[in-house]
Amino acid sequence: MEPSHPIVASVELGGTKCVCLLGHSPGSILDRRRIPTDAPDETLAAIEAVLDEWRGGPRPFTALGIAAFGPLDLDPASPSWGHVAATPKPGWRGIDIAGRLQRRFGVPIGFDTDVDGAALAEGRWGAARGLTDYAYVTVGTGIGVGLVARNRPVGGFSHAEAGHIRIARAPGDDWPGICPFHGDCVEGLASGPAIASRLGRPAAEAQPDDPVWPLVAHALAQLFHGLVLVAAPRLILAGGGVMEAQPQLFPMVRAALRASLAGYVRLPEGGYVVAPGLGSLAGPCGGLALALDALDALEGEPNEGAGRARISA
Ligand code: ADP
Ligand code: ZN
Repeated sequence: MEPSHPIVASVELGGTKCVCLLGHSPGSILDRRRIPTDAPDETLAAIEAVLDEWRGGPRPFTALGIAAFGPLDLDPASPSWGHVAATPKPGWRGIDIAGRLQRRFGVPIGFDTDVDGAALAEGRWGAARGLTDYAYVTVGTGIGVGLVARNRPVGGFSHAEAGHIRIARAPGDDWPGICPFHGDCVEGLASGPAIASRLGRPAAEAQPDDPVWPLVAHALAQLFHGLVLVAAPRLILAGGGVMEAQPQLFPMVRAALRASLAGYVRLPEGGYVVAPGLGSLAGPCGGLALALDALDALEGEPNEGAGRARISA
């Protein structure tokens, strides 16, 4: 492979599993490993063992991208940059991920949330290719949003957490929601566990015409209403286990979004709320995009990806 197609390593650190990839793009993956997410030390040691093997192999990586469940400290000025912040996940709070891997491997590192990584992967290779302003939303165990504005995931003192915004409730619905922090935020109303809690049985057991879906569509449309007004994304990609399994949600969400906007904003032509182009590869490829962005930023390349990653060299 030419120098313009560097081999990079990617770690998607999820709540239940980690996917590690070696390669350059979704179409050129040289190796893939899956590791369960357990206690931090065991999990990080297992990731290091995979990366050690790749580093010593015939195609060593020149950069590393880590797309992790949050919340994360992404402030480059913070002494705890690269650490997990206030996660409810047992044992992981305050754990240093990016610094530990950087000290061990000494390559440029791109570090961001799993949804920001997935959004950047969709921008490089998926349904948002060529766009500089768009959103990637996952509706699964949680609801996460990677909102990309001018080629960068939005964020300031921290990454954005739009899945937890509070919304106008559907008329007549006063179910309290299940978010331990906010009750009826979007995640508390429309994530897989929220749907299961409302149904009293697994979300997968609801029929496509179950009365729960209009309520889920309403909550998601409220989130998208907010995204449209805040950042005017050109496209909203909606993935994750719930969207993948319940495609009837797409027309329902589009209709609810248009109703909520009430003609105030004219949305771009086309579906506007559509499935991610990389499907379930969007998450695992997030680390590849972050690693390539880190390289681009270091080389000061003004082309795609330059300056988008939260990097450490
Ligand atoms: P994660 O968010 O952990 O990465 P997924 O994106 O795969 O995982 O989403 C998992 C969620 O998807 C679970 O909460 C589950 O309830 C939900 N889910 C799985 N299958 C279905 C289905 N057939 N219908 C609705 N929800 C489903
Ligand atoms: Zn919440």
